Amino acid sequence: MALIVQKYGGTSVASVERIKHVAERVAKFKMLGHQVVVVLSAMSGETNRLIALAKEVQSEPDPRELDALISTGEQVTVALMAMALKDLGLKARSYTGAQVRILTDNAHTKARIVSIEEQNMRQDLESGRVVVVAGFQGVDEQGNITTLGRGGSDTTGVALAAALNADECQIYTDVDGVYTTDPRIVPNARRLDTITFEEMLEMASLGSKVLQIRAVEFAGKYKVKLRVLSSFQDEGEGTLITFEEEPNTMEQAIISGIAFNRDEAKITILGVPDTPGVAYQILGPVAEANIDVDMIIQNTGADNTTDFTFTVNRNEYPRTMQLLTSLQAKLGAKEIKGDKHIAKLSIVGVGMRSHVGIASTMFKTLAQENINIQMISTSEIKISVVIDEKYLELAVRILHDVFELEKPR
Ligand code: ADP
Ligand code: ASP
Ligand code: MG
Repeated sequence: MALIVQKYGGTSVASVERIKHVAERVAKFKMLGHQVVVVLSAMSGETNRLIALAKEVQSEPDPRELDALISTGEQVTVALMAMALKDLGLKARSYTGAQVRILTDNAHTKARIVSIEEQNMRQDLESGRVVVVAGFQGVDEQGNITTLGRGGSDTTGVALAAALNADECQIYTDVDGVYTTDPRIVPNARRLDTITFEEMLEMASLGSKVLQIRAVEFAGKYKVKLRVLSSFQDEGEGTLITFEEEPNTMEQAIISGIAFNRDEAKITILGVPDTPGVAYQILGPVAEANIDVDMIIQNTGADNTTDFTFTVNRNEYPRTMQLLTSLQAKLGAKEIKGDKHIAKLSIVGVGMRSHVGIASTMFKTLAQENINIQMISTSEIKISVVIDEKYLELAVRILHDVFELEKPR
């Protein structure tokens, strides 16, 4: 007998039929004698619908009220799931995040989990109930409902698995595992049987939405056995996130995957005086406004001035432009330019550590297609470039080909 946490994403619970289908899958695991905790997302499209509703009422929705609103999608699916399970003759009970008491900090819309009360869930499991928990949400010390950021049900799943010391956390979605890149963009992308935790962390942080980055972080911290699988197929082992590098596979797999992100925008400050402290003068106020900055480039100065470029989340772009425009005179900048139509593309692989020439292959390939690289950043196991959004899909496809990612390791 094992304790399994199963998280089902939005497409897996998109309709009453899908919910019944998931209930049957859960029933199979119960029949095998396992204890099962089910974590659910809202029906697909529901969170977007609720956010759009909020914006119709208030252009910048109040964060506390927004969380109260967007957490409702998950409350619907867990209640329906508990009913579907009971209809199959199983014992089940649904919980919202607050009912479990998934305690978070008070950072509305991007709250972090602080602790989880597990006694009630354990009692339920011991008395044979399936525990069905609403993903994506928690409650702060003051009793306010919070949410964990888009894709946050993954994090609920892994955090519950850690708190309950589960034998495995299974993330069920609409693809049957983690692929070399998004299979919607590259049809011959290949499913990976395993991916190292480090690589998965990079892939998630660089835009692969198949797992939320915080879920991967949690899995690493508490060594949760984490697997990504399809809820649309009955067979298949999915992709296991591993914590050790396998020396023999590492030899061949220089690049494991390609991640991309269309959620960023680029801002350039032209002709600022090239003096000590200029980066701080620009980025200090940005940080104070609680705007996260991703890539940063400062050019070599000429004529005592320099250009400074950085990227922020596209949602924060208008606010960042406004802020910098208001600072332009103080900074002594000649011009402030922005571009929303950029994309960040990254190649990821632990094998990069032991291989040279990967960057030059990547840059040569993009050059041959006449794709201009606007920014570059690297770490030991990834190379990221910012390019014009309109060339993104082309770039992903040709790099997938050039690095032969479709071929088994
Ligand atoms: P869910 O609603 O189940 O949480 P998501 O839409 O959040 O599902 O994540 C699954 C999607 O992630 C897939 O449909 C796929 O388009 C996308 N995706 C992006 N990169 C990858 C990748 N490397 N491997 C698998 N899927 C990926
Ligand atoms: N429903 C939330 C979202 O759409 C959480 C999730 O699906 O993981 O972001
Ligand atoms: Mg998701």
